[in-house]
Amino acid sequence: MSLIVQKYGGTSVATPERIRAVARRVARYKSLGYQIVVVVSAMSGETNRLIGLAKEIMEEPDPRELDVMVSTGEQVSIGMAALALIDLGIKAKSYTGSQVKILTDDAHTKARILKIDHNNIQEDLDKGYVVVVAGFQGEDAQGNITTLGRGGSDTTGVAIAAALKADECQIYTDVDGIYTTDPRVVPEAKKLDSITFEEMLEMASLGSKVLQIRSVEFAGKYKVKLRVLSSFEEEGDGTLITFEEKNNMEQPIISGIAFNRDEAKVTILGVPDTPGSAYQILGPIADANIEVDMIIQNVGSVGTTDFTFTVNKNDLNKALAVLNEKVKNHVHAREVNGNDKIAKVSIVGVGMRSHIGVASKMFRTLSEEGININMISTSEIKISVVIDEKYLELAVRALHKAFELDI
Ligand code: ASP
Ligand code: MG
Repeated sequence: MSLIVQKYGGTSVATPERIRAVARRVARYKSLGYQIVVVVSAMSGETNRLIGLAKEIMEEPDPRELDVMVSTGEQVSIGMAALALIDLGIKAKSYTGSQVKILTDDAHTKARILKIDHNNIQEDLDKGYVVVVAGFQGEDAQGNITTLGRGGSDTTGVAIAAALKADECQIYTDVDGIYTTDPRVVPEAKKLDSITFEEMLEMASLGSKVLQIRSVEFAGKYKVKLRVLSSFEEEGDGTLITFEEKNNMEQPIISGIAFNRDEAKVTILGVPDTPGSAYQILGPIADANIEVDMIIQNVGSVGTTDFTFTVNKNDLNKALAVLNEKVKNHVHAREVNGNDKIAKVSIVGVGMRSHIGVASKMFRTLSEEGININMISTSEIKISVVIDEKYLELAVRALHKAFELDI
C-alpha cells in the first residue's frame, strides 16, 4: 500500500477551521487507499509568541528551557489535527517527537535528527490509523526535549518520510509551489512544475524561504520524493523536486532567480600582499563565529591588496569590531569599512552546464539597466552578483525577462 507523508505548515493549521480543512484533505487521501502520516507545525504566530514569552522572563533564554516552551506549539496542533480527524470518523493518533521517537543530538534550538524509531507509528499505520506527528521537535539521548531550528517541521516531515520509505513527502504551505522568482517582485513569475534538488538547494540557500534548507539536504541525501503544494487550493500538483534533469531540449537555461537582502559587505583596504594575509583576516572572523559568504581579493595600490567579503547583516558590527580590533594593525591594513545597503541576486539553473554565455548575458542585462556589479561569484549551476540594494527589484525584473522566465 502506498504511504505518503503530508506536512502542514503554520498557516495551514492557523485556525480550527483550517485544521478541519486539513482533516478533510487527509480523509480524501485515506479514502483513496493511502497510508498517511501527517506532520504539523505550530499554529502560525505561535512559535514567535512562545519565544516572546520566554524573552520576557530572560533576555537570552536558557536553550533547554526554551525548547521545553516552544515545542508546545506543535503539541497543541497534533492534538487538534487528531481531533479533527476523529471527528470525521477517521482513526487517528497523535505523537510528540519523543513519543515517536525522534532522537536528536543535544544542540538545543538547532538540533539535528540522528535516528527515528518508526516501529510504533508503522504498527499504527498497519492498524489503519492516520498518524499525526509533531514537527520541529525531538529528544536527545538523555530524554531532553529538543527543537530543530526555525522552519524545522519541514525536516521532520522529510525525515519521517525517509524512515518509513514513503512514496512521497508532500509539503503543504500557503503558496502553490516554487516560483521562478518571488511573485511580489515580479508579477509575471511562473510556478515551476518541477525543479531539481541541486537547484532547490541553491534557491533555498539563497533565501527563497519556502522550504527549510536542511529538509532539502535531507531529502537529497535519502532520495525522498518531495512536492510543495498549497493547502488553500483543492486542485494542483504543486512543484515536484526531482533528481532527474529534463532532456536538453526542454531544459531551460535558468530555472529561477533568487535574491536576498540579508548580507552586508566588509572591505579591508591596503593589506600588504604577502602569504597568509587572507588567513590573518578570515581566521579571527571565523573564531568569532561569523559566517562568511562571498569573498574577493583585488590588487590594490603597489604591493597591496583589497579584501572584500560578505556576512549576514546581523553580524556586520561584530565583523567590523573584529577587523578594527584584532586584524587591522596586525596585518598593517590601511582602512576597514562596511556597507549594509547591498543585495545579492543569483540566477540558478542546471541548464547552465550545457550553455555558454550565460554569465555574459547576465552582466549585459545588468549593464543595460545601468546597474553596477560590486562582487561576482559562480558555481556550476549558479551565478551571484552583489549590487546596490536600491537596484534589487529592477535587476530581478530585468533578468527574469532576459532569461525568458515569464514565457
Ligand atoms: N513552529 C516552528 C517555527 O515556527 C517550526 C515550523 O513551523 O516549521 O519555526
Ligand atoms: Mg515553514
